[in-house]
Amino acid sequence: MRLRILGTAAGGGVPQWNCACPGCTGARTHPRWRRSHASLAVENHIVNATPDIAEHIESCEWLRPGPSPVPDPSPGPVPAAGPDAGRTRVMRVILTDAELDHTLGLPRLREADELEIIATPVVREALTRGLRLEEVLSPYAELRWRDLTRDGHVSLTCGVRVQAVPVSDKRPRYAAGDAPAPDWVVALRFTDPATGGTCLYAPAFGVWSARLEEAMAEADCVIVDGTFWDDEEPRRTGISSRTATEMGHLPIEATAERLARLPGRCLYTHLNNTNPLVDPDAPQHKRLAELGVEVAADGMVIEL
Ligand SMILES: [Zn+2]
Repeated sequence: MRLRILGTAAGGGVPQWNCACPGCTGARTHPRWRRSHASLAVENHIVNATPDIAEHIESCEWLRPGPSPVPDPSPGPVPAAGPDAGRTRVMRVILTDAELDHTLGLPRLREADELEIIATPVVREALTRGLRLEEVLSPYAELRWRDLTRDGHVSLTCGVRVQAVPVSDKRPRYAAGDAPAPDWVVALRFTDPATGGTCLYAPAFGVWSARLEEAMAEADCVIVDGTFWDDEEPRRTGISSRTATEMGHLPIEATAERLARLPGRCLYTHLNNTNPLVDPDAPQHKRLAELGVEVAADGMVIEL
C-alpha cells in the first residue's frame, strides 16, 4: 500500500493564525518550519479531514482529479469526456476521532457527489447530532457512513483493511455531554493483504495500553502522537492549564524509548506549534535520531 503523510501538525497548524510563539514565529520566517494539519493518505482514502484537506488532495498526485484518477469503482456512470471527465465524484475519509481539527475539512468536500465517512459509531453520532454535519452537508453531497467497530475490520475499496484500536475516551469539547465510550479516539491499523504490509496510525493517545503496544509491535511502520515533547509543555507555554497527558497526548519523553524497542519503523506526527521539534535544528532531533525514531515530514511517501 502507498501511504503519503499529508500533514504533520496538531490543531492550528504551524504557524497557527493567532499565535506568536517561537515555533509559529519561526515558521513565518523559515518556510521549512511550516507544517500543515496531520493527515495521511492510504491509497485513495484520507485519514482525518483537516482544514487543509483540499490542499492535501492537491499535494498528492494520486488523490488529484484528472485523466489518471485514483482507480476507484465509484457508483454511477462516469462520462468518458466532457467537462466532468476525471472529476472526483466520491471522496473517502477515515476518522480517528471527532475533534474539530480532524473533521472541519468535511464541509470543504461538498463538491463531491458522495462522501464516504468511516468512523466509530460514537464519532458518527457526535458529527451528526453535535455538529449537524448530515443536515448541513446532505443538500450538497450524499453522506455514506461505515462503522468502524472495535472488533473486525472494514475492507477499503483499494483492498487495504482497516481496524480500530480504541485508545481514549476523550470527547471533543462540543460533545462533552455525550456518553463516555472507549472508542472516542482510536488508532487505525492498516493491513494490505496483497503485500502483508501493516501500518499503525495513532495521532492521539494519552495512555500506553497493552493493546496499543501489541498493535504497534505487529506493525511494519507506526506513525504516532508527537504533539508535545514533555508533559509540562502545555502549561509552561501557557496554552492550557492541563498537562500533555491530561490533554490526551502522551508526551514524546514518555514514548520515545518505548518506540525505539519496537521492531518496525517509527515516526512522530501531529506536532503542536509549542513542540521544540518544530525547529529543524533543535537538539531534540538528535536525541530521537540516536534512538532511531523519526519525525515525519509533510509529503513523506511510505510503501508497505
Ligand atoms: Zn504558536
